[in-house]
Amino acid sequence: MLAGSVPATSLEVMTTRAARYDAVVTRREQVSPHLVRLTLSVPGLVSTGILDEWVGLVVPGQFQVRYYTVRSLTGDELVVDVVIHEVGLVTEWASGDCVGDRPMVTAPQGSFAPPPEAAWLLLVGDLTAMPAMARVCSSTSLPTRVWAEVPDDLPGYLPEHTDVTWLTPPAEGRSRLAEVVEGIDWPAGEGYFWMAGESSQMRSIRKHLMRARHLPNAAYDVMGYWRAVTSRHPRAVDPGPIWRAGKAAGKSDEQIWAEYDEARGV
Ligand SMILES: Cc1cc2nc3c(=O)[nH]c(=O)nc-3n(C[C@H](O)[C@H](O)[C@H](O)COP(=O)(O)OP(=O)(O)OC[C@H]3O[C@@H](n4cnc5c(N)ncnc54)[C@H](O)[C@@H]3O)c2cc1C
Repeated sequence: MLAGSVPATSLEVMTTRAARYDAVVTRREQVSPHLVRLTLSVPGLVSTGILDEWVGLVVPGQFQVRYYTVRSLTGDELVVDVVIHEVGLVTEWASGDCVGDRPMVTAPQGSFAPPPEAAWLLLVGDLTAMPAMARVCSSTSLPTRVWAEVPDDLPGYLPEHTDVTWLTPPAEGRSRLAEVVEGIDWPAGEGYFWMAGESSQMRSIRKHLMRARHLPNAAYDVMGYWRAVTSRHPRAVDPGPIWRAGKAAGKSDEQIWAEYDEARGV
């Protein structure tokens, strides 16, 4: 399983092996110091149309899956933006000349689902969330506010009209998005809150949304995309029983995922 990053639906993915597609990298561009754009030709890959959809990526010679947001998928041409951080399987692969390499890609899946009554969107995320936030901003007609915690200048990455607050990470590989969200001046009426980034920040925010804001599950989607290394290692917990018990109790993916994080102590 992905180190430290378990999308709500990936617990499901663990029980049924996702379809895999052969891909070839056709282009590599440096978007900013910490962001590399890869274009891949992936015959047969079909978009779900969900704005934060992601694919699993298995780089050549490896078997572990890492998840990347579909920046775009036009015909067979998949574009993903890869964050280059200190050390990592995909980071190291994407840092080098990977054009011509043949990774595997899993079928896209997504979870961004504003309820029909949503009159606004709040999007919060770090650099790993930028592809999804850019895609949402380019596609929605709802009034949208964005908080982006990124280490690089990203001119033109979001559509020109976007109402965005740019934040600098407190240190390399660190995030303070939870504190930022707790200080947000919440809009009136029904809306949808979407957030992704470092897992411990996401866990705090799920608690804040449930306990302080009393938001119904359908009003938000908060996903841990990666976990900062700390001196404390998470406990190994089998997600299967938690998933089955949660489903049997009629819990949402979001609740089950929060319980899984809780059990692991992250
Ligand atoms: C649904 C979903 C969508 C995602 N979309 C994207 C996307 O579009 N672009 C993207 O770049 N990432 C995205 N991610 C996050 C990405 O999957 C993780 O960051 C992944 O761990 C990176 O793999 P790696 O092989 O480079 O590093 P790994 O080998 O997994 O990790 C090595 C170490 O690096 C650290 N680390 C991992 N990620 C980061 C990071 N981003 N910043 C700082 N330190 C880190 C961890 O402490 C880890 O121990 C997404 C994750 C999910 C679940």
